[in-house]
Amino acid sequence: MHASTQNADACWSPPHVTDEIFWRSSFVNELGGVKHAFAPLGCNMSKTSGSDTDSTIPRRVKACAAIGSSIERLVCAKQAHEQNIAVVGAKDGRRVLEGVDGFATDDPGVTLMAFTADCPTVMVFDPTQKVLGLVHSGWKGSCLNVVAALIATMTETLGANMSAAWATIGPCAGGCCYEIKQDVAEQVEASTVDASTVLRHATNESKFYLNLPMMIAAQLQQWGIAPKQIGLPSQCTICDTRFYSYRRQGPNAGQAALLARIA
Ligand SMILES: [Zn+2]
Repeated sequence: MHASTQNADACWSPPHVTDEIFWRSSFVNELGGVKHAFAPLGCNMSKTSGSDTDSTIPRRVKACAAIGSSIERLVCAKQAHEQNIAVVGAKDGRRVLEGVDGFATDDPGVTLMAFTADCPTVMVFDPTQKVLGLVHSGWKGSCLNVVAALIATMTETLGANMSAAWATIGPCAGGCCYEIKQDVAEQVEASTVDASTVLRHATNESKFYLNLPMMIAAQLQQWGIAPKQIGLPSQCTICDTRFYSYRRQGPNAGQAALLARIA
C-alpha cells in the first residue's frame, strides 16, 4: 500500500472496536461541527450495484444510526458525473435526487450521502455559518470543477465563508494507481489546476497517473481554503483492499458512501 499523496494527513482510520463498521476522519473529528461516516468494503451502500442490494436498506439504517441520524433524514442522488448541486433540508429526507453530484445545506435535520467506488468524495464545512457541502468529484467532475460549483452554492445561496472553512477528501483512488489516458490528461491540462503537479507519466508513454486528491485540494485552495484546513486521504481504494474499487473489482461490486450531517 502506498500513500496517495506526499503531504497526506493520515486522517482516515478504521473503527477501533470490532463490532463497528464505519471509518472516520480524525481531522474532521478534531475540527468538530460535523458527524460523518465512511462505509468500507462489505458495507455496500448501493441499491443498484453489488450482489447484496436486497440488504442495502438495513446497512443505510445502520450508517445513519452511526452518526446519530435516521434513514428518514437521508438524502442521496443518482450521481451523473456533472456539476449540479442541490440545496437540501429536512424536507428532502428519503429523497433520491436525479442528476445531482453534490449537496449544500445549513439544516442539521438532513443527512447527506455521496456514493463512491474510487471517485473522491469531498466534504466542505464552514463552522461559523454552519454550512455543510458534500460532493462526488471523479475525474469528470474534477475536470468540470464540481467543487467550485459546490462552493459557489454554499457561499452565494447559504452565506458560507470559505476563509473559515475546512474540507476533507474521502478514501479514493490515489496517485499511485489511478491510471488515465491521453484524452483525460488533456482535460486535466485544460483545467484550472497546474497539471504538472497532479500528473506523472506511466511507463507506457501514452498513459499517466492522476493524483485526484491533489487536484481537488488545489481547487479548494483556489476558493480560499487554507492548505492546513484540507484533509487528504492516505489510503488508495485501488491498492487498499479494505475499500470498494471500480478499477479493481469492476462496476457491479457495490459502492461505498460518505455520510455527513451538521452536528
Ligand atoms: Zn494505489
